[in-house]
Amino acid sequence: MSSHTQLSLVRQLSFCAGHRLYGHEGRCAFLHGHNYRVDIEVEAEGGGTAVDDVGRVVDFSLIKKRMLGWLDEHWDHAFILFEKDETTLAAVRTAEPTKYFVLPWNPTAENMARYLLEVVAPHVLAGLGVLARRVSLWETDEACAVATLVGRPTEPPVPVGSVVIVDGRTR
Ligand SMILES: [Zn+2]
Repeated sequence: MSSHTQLSLVRQLSFCAGHRLYGHEGRCAFLHGHNYRVDIEVEAEGGGTAVDDVGRVVDFSLIKKRMLGWLDEHWDHAFILFEKDETTLAAVRTAEPTKYFVLPWNPTAENMARYLLEVVAPHVLAGLGVLARRVSLWETDEACAVATLVGRPTEPPVPVGSVVIVDGRTR
């Protein structure tokens, strides 16, 4: 059966994080936070209507487990900061306990969506037979940035950055 249909799944995920926009001309230059929402859309690596024996592109729970697992560990309750934002990095390093993630780009919704699509998704979804096609990153209920993969990647994925957690408390 030939088909012109492209199947995909969308999973919603959420996390809380702080950031500031380096070089921003207004209030986004202040340290602040968001209840972020991520919508990640995935399709079968082969594209089209490819599904498994059960009829799924992939089980929703695997997308949640892999992607939300990464978000919880790396971005949730962390400050996400641009690597060139030296004064803020110095400030969060003086806090204790502290959790922060150094991004190679300014942490706008656009750049965070792009990072999740280009860097994080290929890493965490490896072996599932799926490709992340689109990531929408919602900063508020009204506004999101959308990163969409055009075509199929030919380059190997870039290594993912690491979170810094300093926490001397014994629990
Ligand atoms: Zn913000």
